[in-house]
Amino acid sequence: MSFLSADTPSLLQLRELLSSPRQCVIVTHYNPDGDAMGSSLGLMNALQALGHRAQVVFPNTPASFLHWMPGYGSAITADTHPEQAKNLVCSAEVLFCLDFNKPDRVGLLEESLRAAPFRVLVDHHQRPDTFARITFSDTTSCATCQMVYDILVALKAEEHIDREVATCLYTGVMTDSGSFRYSSTTPHTLRVAAALMEKGAVPDHVFSAVMDDNSEQRLKLLGFTLAERMTVHPQFGTAVIVLEQKDLDRFQFAPGDTEGFVNYGLSIRGVRLAAFFVERPDRVKISLRSKGALPVDQFLSAHFDGGGHANAAGGQSTSPLPDVVARFMELLPAFIAEHPA
Ligand code: 5GP
Ligand code: MN
Repeated sequence: MSFLSADTPSLLQLRELLSSPRQCVIVTHYNPDGDAMGSSLGLMNALQALGHRAQVVFPNTPASFLHWMPGYGSAITADTHPEQAKNLVCSAEVLFCLDFNKPDRVGLLEESLRAAPFRVLVDHHQRPDTFARITFSDTTSCATCQMVYDILVALKAEEHIDREVATCLYTGVMTDSGSFRYSSTTPHTLRVAAALMEKGAVPDHVFSAVMDDNSEQRLKLLGFTLAERMTVHPQFGTAVIVLEQKDLDRFQFAPGDTEGFVNYGLSIRGVRLAAFFVERPDRVKISLRSKGALPVDQFLSAHFDGGGHANAAGGQSTSPLPDVVARFMELLPAFIAEHPA
């Protein structure tokens, strides 16, 4: 079922807002993934079809396996065009904030986001901050793209979901649901996917475009990581992967190369928590994935400046990598004990 009903207040507010042509800017989170990009580019195309001006601004350049997405060429990236990106964000008549719910998720665009006069939030992560005039927050939706689809249908704009919009939205639904395998996949998700297919999204093309874009070096890094950098702790049902900068250098790391590595740990028999630590120039990035009632967003929000979903969340630390991993191992027994399988 759609997360919206005909009299949902945020829907009524948005309908009123879009009743005359607006100058819209759409922003999403740092390191945009398939859902962030799909929802942003899909909404951009749909808003334009509805007679509005719409421009997408990304906090940084997305991984190259997502550059094929329809509309990507017209987006501005703040790492390559910081002043233009900041100006667009702070001076937007309407600023759509998609697939994140805390202002600090947009990197160097945070100040501009806070300065924008009118923000509309559409997001599916836990515990949204209140920084938007209109908030669509639904933690049961598997993807922000699914929410954008529901909003467009509720606005009676379904006819404007053309092949490009459908392809963008399908991509995010597919990637954020783990290709329809995570527990967030509902009958509604599959109905939305079917509707997007009828509008022109081609599942095998999208899957192949996203998944079959490995460089040789990335696959070799994956093999090395699993063989040399993963430790399983059976007593905690936990798999831990730790990658140092020198490991990345050895395999000519490119942005996006470690995307999805964390999931391999979770596929081990008996493992219900997978942790991934990667050393980046300015910080250690942490990804956690879990099965069942093991709320990794709460854990990361309490200890590692992070958040996300109950079973998939991220965080970071500016401490040295060995210290971050040691701290995690200290906290692990209590976290597991508090949430028995
Ligand atoms: P990933 O581990 O793939 O980076 O992220 C998993 C989920 O957690 C995604 O939905 C992502 O948006 C969210 N996430 C990742 N890093 C952070 C973070 O530092 N803070 C918060 N609040 N969410 C994050
Ligand atoms: Mn998402």
